[in-house]
Amino acid sequence: MSEPQFNKLALIGIGLIGSSIARAARKHNLVKSIVIADSSAEALKEAEALKLGDAYHADAGAAVRDADLIIICVPIGAYAEIGQAIALNLKSGAIVSDVGSVKQAVVRDLGPLLPDHVHFIPGHPVAGTEHSGPKAGFAELFEGRWQILAPVPGTDEQAVGKLAAFWRVMGSNVEVMEPMHHDQVLAITSHLPHLIAYTIVGTATGLEGSTQREVIKFSASGFRDFTRIAASNPIMWRDIFLNNREAVLEMLGRFNEDLTALQRAIRWGEGEKLEEWFTRTRAVRRSIIDAKQA
Ligand code: NAP
Repeated sequence: MSEPQFNKLALIGIGLIGSSIARAARKHNLVKSIVIADSSAEALKEAEALKLGDAYHADAGAAVRDADLIIICVPIGAYAEIGQAIALNLKSGAIVSDVGSVKQAVVRDLGPLLPDHVHFIPGHPVAGTEHSGPKAGFAELFEGRWQILAPVPGTDEQAVGKLAAFWRVMGSNVEVMEPMHHDQVLAITSHLPHLIAYTIVGTATGLEGSTQREVIKFSASGFRDFTRIAASNPIMWRDIFLNNREAVLEMLGRFNEDLTALQRAIRWGEGEKLEEWFTRTRAVRRSIIDAKQA
């Protein structure tokens, strides 16, 4: 059991990610107290029933008073509103971080609203599920997963080290990355796969009645895996696509070119081409298993 690294942790948003941080921070004795803010009265009630925090607020501004670590865990579209609500109440020397799946937009939207006397260190745990809300979280969510920290140039290194240590105790591997690079990497590893899943499941729902019923019946043949991804939080994913537009469009362009190449190979019966492609992609799966990220 570690010594508490922070006195007061304020979590803004107590859904899947916020509630997992609350549970993991408690489990590892990382903080002396946890204050929770959420705009949803229901989420606050659930968090209280689950004993995730020591105090609960509807107002983010009230929750951050005296906190030495603040982690924003809400959809990215709500960041500017939160920045305005908390800016005046932040303690000098506090670390302000987040878990949003896009990083350049967070630097753009939140950075200018925060006072100079806090350390702003955007972050992103590359861990999650398709579920939402305080009940969906669990303390082990971050174990063996990557936590990306994306500080802007000039950020205090000691503060970055302190935040990295917090995530390491919760089981994460920590990597520091430029916000722009983060957004490009996540566009192909996370955002595009979600867009493809949303598309294919949406296409299936547009099929005529009898075929649609067979889709559900025979879903185990591949479709089912897409439906899990396509069941992810619609608000969160709307905000990710709107806020990582350029990188997603760039990767989508490349994807469309490759899809067209495969379409031609099928049309012209180019079996060798297909086999070569599928052999290459099979090797990627093996590398993921070897990296213990399966
Ligand atoms: P979630 O389970 O839906 O929880 C978000 C909570 O924030 C909800 O209770 C929501 O209330 C509340 N909220 C929304 N706007 C707010 C505001 N202005 N002030 C205070 N609370 C507000 O979402 P999540 O899955 O934890 O995702 C949170 C963040 O983590 C997102 O930015 C996402 O990109 C990032 N992330 C998610 C995953 C994942 O797999 N889910 C993985 C990595 C990172 P309402 O329900 O009433 O809106």
